[in-house]
Amino acid sequence: MLDSKIPSGPLQDKWTNHKFNLKLVNPANKRKYTVLVVGTGLAGASAAASLSEMGYNVEVFCFQDSPRRAHSIAAQGGINAAKNYPNDGDSIKRLFYDTIKGGDFRSREANVYRLAEVSNNIIDQCVAQGVPFAREYSGYLENRSFGGAQVSRTFYARGQTGQQLLLGAYSALMKEVSRGSVKMHPRTEMLDLVVIDGVAKGIIVRDLVTGKLTSYAGDAVVLATGGYGNVFYLSTNAKGSNVTAIWRAHKKGAFLANPCYTQIHPTCIPIHGDYQSKLTLMSESLRNDGRVWVPKDKNDKRKPSEISEQERDYFLERKYPSFGNLVPRDIASRNAKEQCDAGKGVGLTGQAVYLDFADAIKRLGKSVIQERYSNLFDMYKKITDDNPYETPMMIYPAVHYTMGGLWVDYNLMSNLPGLFVIGEANFSDHGANRLGASALMQGLADGYFVLPYTIGDYLAKSAPVAKNMMEHSAFQEAWRHADEKIKYMLSIKGKRTVDDFHRELGKLLWDKCGMARNESGLKEALRRIPAIRDEFWQNVTIRGSEGELNQTLERAGRVADFLEFGELLVTDALHRRESCGGHFREEFQTPEGEALRDDENFTYVSAWEYTGVGKAPNLHKEELKFEEVHLSQRSYK
Ligand SMILES: Cc1cc2nc3c(=O)[nH]c(=O)nc-3n(C[C@H](O)[C@H](O)[C@H](O)COP(=O)(O)OP(=O)(O)OC[C@H]3O[C@@H](n4cnc5c(N)ncnc54)[C@H](O)[C@@H]3O)c2cc1C
Repeated sequence: MLDSKIPSGPLQDKWTNHKFNLKLVNPANKRKYTVLVVGTGLAGASAAASLSEMGYNVEVFCFQDSPRRAHSIAAQGGINAAKNYPNDGDSIKRLFYDTIKGGDFRSREANVYRLAEVSNNIIDQCVAQGVPFAREYSGYLENRSFGGAQVSRTFYARGQTGQQLLLGAYSALMKEVSRGSVKMHPRTEMLDLVVIDGVAKGIIVRDLVTGKLTSYAGDAVVLATGGYGNVFYLSTNAKGSNVTAIWRAHKKGAFLANPCYTQIHPTCIPIHGDYQSKLTLMSESLRNDGRVWVPKDKNDKRKPSEISEQERDYFLERKYPSFGNLVPRDIASRNAKEQCDAGKGVGLTGQAVYLDFADAIKRLGKSVIQERYSNLFDMYKKITDDNPYETPMMIYPAVHYTMGGLWVDYNLMSNLPGLFVIGEANFSDHGANRLGASALMQGLADGYFVLPYTIGDYLAKSAPVAKNMMEHSAFQEAWRHADEKIKYMLSIKGKRTVDDFHRELGKLLWDKCGMARNESGLKEALRRIPAIRDEFWQNVTIRGSEGELNQTLERAGRVADFLEFGELLVTDALHRRESCGGHFREEFQTPEGEALRDDENFTYVSAWEYTGVGKAPNLHKEELKFEEVHLSQRSYK
């Protein structure tokens, strides 16, 4: 059993007491320590800025040309906090409870409570930075609702919340860059973690413009490298999002937790062709005003305007009257799939349901809807050429977020001392299903308010890294290994493109380990993935060379990792013989078709240890103890 290092004492006091008990690094000593932060999304940028302001030396890495282009910029709908401005009954305890329940009782109580507790500080911090959250006429910050909650607690900046929050964190980061205490390395990709005597001591990176490989030593390494949803090829994630940093850390000994917990978002623009490379999210905020429906009759090909009210099935409102269209994402997604599988899907492929704003426009007027969602409506129109002010949007679920990630304890440190993991890259707070508007909250909580405390406790107990550390053979070996891998990939000169392999893997994962999984499908995927991987290493083609900007080479490295990681994802899904949140095993469902958990046998985090490519990984468990909430069958009816 893994020790999550959850402090003792009452839930409400754990974090406060823990902060008091953590060791401190004295201000004069802080500048003797160097922290390597990989990633500049909300988690990485907020952490790097905070650590630098505290006095540490910080080196920051990202593969984009600017930290501002991290995938966090794409976040649309909003960020949760328990401010209770609308006075509708919200509280820290309610945000905590909704998040635990939303995650289908597969997350740690202590972490989730802390997240709810610091959520309010995040809003204050961001307002102080000038983040232009939407305001009411009175001047108060406005809130809207997201799935899985009956209160309005989501702060937003139109449909561009991630962008505005990232500009705030980026400004804080760049202030530190100009002060000289953060060194920024854009267009630089981490290729390996250096571990010495079981402790994380540095990284190997590749300059993506020149191809040069360089080593960096540090007193702690922080991975803030985002999610791995792109293992499915088609997802709402930025094309560059990948698993490489955490996978390579995993190969160096870091445990990977709950890799099969994938979030499928219900409201995305449906797939329209075999050679599409990306899917587009339509924010969950749209479900505040949009109503989801399908025709009651199968194969009804009439235009939506020709289908009368009596002939429509508002299936979420019918099945879940308390939460209606605002049920959590896993439930909304499965229900959309169920309708389409039953032949009631709409559009050319039959793989879509309607999201209809006609009632809201009638009730509130077009200008109000425009004010709330205009950029999302414009985006939808540009992509589909349909005008959602006049005809319902067509939507279908798509891969969106990964709840799994590197295992971390309460201090956000992995099982490898010195390796911290924050934001979407860790597994920590969302259990088997993340509620909307909670990822931004978690990334910023980790970066601004948790890591800056906990990392000090670790550093206070370790002497600053020696000047000649990079002469250690572990650095040279890791460098050589990264170099050889690149040279080998370039030497294959096969016939199939990197994307072709990625597409094949992604389709297999989506078909066998997507919205619904079953034992025979998962076993089939486990048979086929090694074959795809073997062919990749014999038949991939990568043009160009290593000493130049070579995006095919970059992608090849990431796809090679997806081909190993995909097998672990499926292994985890096969092992978990229950349904929970985003992990729906068809064999385990209630008579009404809802996820059926097995609390007796699976109330634990699965943390996998790497044993070699294609070899069965070792399973470590972290038992989840529920002292505050009562485990129950989730109900949103
Ligand atoms: C379309 C969309 C809309 C969303 N909307 C919302 C929303 O409204 N509310 C909400 O709460 N959540 C939302 N989410 C989820 C949320 O945006 C993400 O979970 C969150 O932004 C992740 O932040 P992060 O800092 O962990 O990682 P990211 O923002 O993904 O940043 C990762 C960073 O790591 C770097 N990196 C990765 N690998 C390497 C490597 N090997 N070497 C060097 N650098 C590396 C990248 O360059 C980047 O800087 C949305 C997600 C999507 C896809």
